[in-house]
Amino acid sequence: MVVHKHMSKDGRIWLSHTGVEVLERCPRCFWLQYRRGIYQPEGIVSRLPNRFDTVLKNYFNIFRPLGELPPLVVGKLGGKLQNPFQEKYFVRIDEKYGFFGKLDECLVDEKGEHIPVDFKTASSDPREKEVLGAYQSQIDDYVYILAENGKKVTGYGYLIYFFPDHSEELHKGFPMIIHIQKLNGDPKKTNERIKKAKSVLEKEIPNPAEDCPFCTWYDKVKEELSVKKNA
Ligand code: SF4
Repeated sequence: MVVHKHMSKDGRIWLSHTGVEVLERCPRCFWLQYRRGIYQPEGIVSRLPNRFDTVLKNYFNIFRPLGELPPLVVGKLGGKLQNPFQEKYFVRIDEKYGFFGKLDECLVDEKGEHIPVDFKTASSDPREKEVLGAYQSQIDDYVYILAENGKKVTGYGYLIYFFPDHSEELHKGFPMIIHIQKLNGDPKKTNERIKKAKSVLEKEIPNPAEDCPFCTWYDKVKEELSVKKNA
């Protein structure tokens, strides 16, 4: 078997929220990633959200040892920042598979229950939008990994959206709308997705999604080349 980045030294295939999201879009791409280490080309992607995450994490870290919530979110969130913060969680599902996740932040309430937090950079007003399915499943997955690692959980998590606002005084600082969304997480749904992911990976390569431009392009190129070869 080809060894790639989803496989660890322990030989397990490590599923994750992002990986399993690919399955929702196309089982074939998912299979190719996990079984062959072949990824769809990324194209041009903005790294601005990564920068936002780094800046926000550093900011939250300053307040962690003080036992205070950062002024940006004080009064809007309950609990305290987890201290020390544990970013990564691993769940060994069986001999062959694992599931891992990385939290942006975590709160702990007065009962010692954990509340996962994820930062989201928004390019349109998050107050007017429905929550994306992928964000909902992310909270399911966070509650799952926390609970499976023996942490007490509340069963919900927070998404904190950062959305740049208009201002006539941008020279005084860039205003941000901070929108907090509380979402219940259902670890049973994560279990179901893991089951589905395992069953796809245990079978032969699935068919491509019908409307995907990449495989259509690839098929056309393949057809063109075989016509030339046989001409
Ligand atoms: S149809 Fe092909 S390229 Fe598109 S997502 Fe599926 S495997 Fe990937």
